[in-house]
Amino acid sequence: MTDTQPRARPPRQEQEPASEEVTEVVPGVLRMQLPIWMPGLGHVNMYGLVDDRGIAVVDPGLPGPQSWKALKQRLKTAGYRVKDVHTVVVTHSHPDHFGGAGRIAREGGAKLITHHAFSTWTVKGPSPQRALSEGEARRVEMEAAAYAQSVDVSPDELPTINDPDVVHDDTEETEATSSPWGAITPWGTTNQGPPLRRRVMIKALRMLFTPPEPTDRVHHGERVRLGDRDWFVVHTPGHTVDHLCLWDPESGTLLTGDHVLPSITPHVSGVRKADSLKSYLATLDLVGRLKGVTLGLPAHGHPFADVAGRVEAIKEHHAERMELLRQAGLALGPATVVALSHEVFPKRHWGTMAESETFAHLEHLAHAGGAERYEEKGMLVYRMEPASDPA
Ligand SMILES: [Zn+2]
Ligand SMILES: [Zn+2]
Repeated sequence: MTDTQPRARPPRQEQEPASEEVTEVVPGVLRMQLPIWMPGLGHVNMYGLVDDRGIAVVDPGLPGPQSWKALKQRLKTAGYRVKDVHTVVVTHSHPDHFGGAGRIAREGGAKLITHHAFSTWTVKGPSPQRALSEGEARRVEMEAAAYAQSVDVSPDELPTINDPDVVHDDTEETEATSSPWGAITPWGTTNQGPPLRRRVMIKALRMLFTPPEPTDRVHHGERVRLGDRDWFVVHTPGHTVDHLCLWDPESGTLLTGDHVLPSITPHVSGVRKADSLKSYLATLDLVGRLKGVTLGLPAHGHPFADVAGRVEAIKEHHAERMELLRQAGLALGPATVVALSHEVFPKRHWGTMAESETFAHLEHLAHAGGAERYEEKGMLVYRMEPASDPA
């Protein structure tokens, strides 16, 4: 959703206000910016994929009239109406990405494509792994192999997720930052939610909101034809469990969603009983290794060329944060997620988002044997192992 890292530099490109301009970033792919009001972000990129059937859009902004008005204007600038949108793709279950999706589907009869595990407060999806039957898995594998042949990529150059830990099998999936306000977080505190004024606004928007009910839940390895291109679905859990990227090997284009952003570090939500940072780092590697990627199209910020370079920088950032946290834990002794988050985040970032990211890092340490976790009075407590080197 947003970046929660310390920041004392000039505004990042992801924070720029939404421009009304529509730009063609590669032939048949339009970048349209929609306004958002979320901490650390100024716009979300809605990409338009143009073909002779009309247009498909990826990540159609926040719920609410202001974003909808901008969405219609951008489409009009590009020469389209909402009725011309035949497909909506939502990269993951954050409101700045799925907000307009349900309404476009309702008004124009568009298909709505998400990852298989897509889930929001009103739309419940299956767990990432469990519902993938043997038959489905075989179909996806065959589709991927056929795809490899059609784009002249050898099958072993296709991305795979070969570590079963990467796609965790967790039906009770609750992401702390999307757990209801007032609910108990996995680390034992109460989720306060946003400030009261924003809570009131969000509640009002939810009442008018058309939920994004997917018509097509896709799996890793499936092929999606949009904008006269064949896109390969790359499942990239970490930022959220249902995050997907779309890769077009022919043109070397990768729609990165919030998985890889050009200048800020995507938030990684801690989840219960799973190492979401491990998923994130592994799927960063996955997209960093994709053959011939020359253009990353992120959900926030400008198109960028060096996807592999950004992957390395983000990995380095997490390694540094882990070490910072480990040192803080060693100095503090056994401590809660809240206490540790206060050690590694500046005061202006304290709260559920910072705790969630700290929790993700702590769980990663605990899974790697670098920390011991236990419960005390309903709160998780972490004790660092002095000799460990989990990196
Ligand atoms: Zn986002
Ligand atoms: Zn997000």
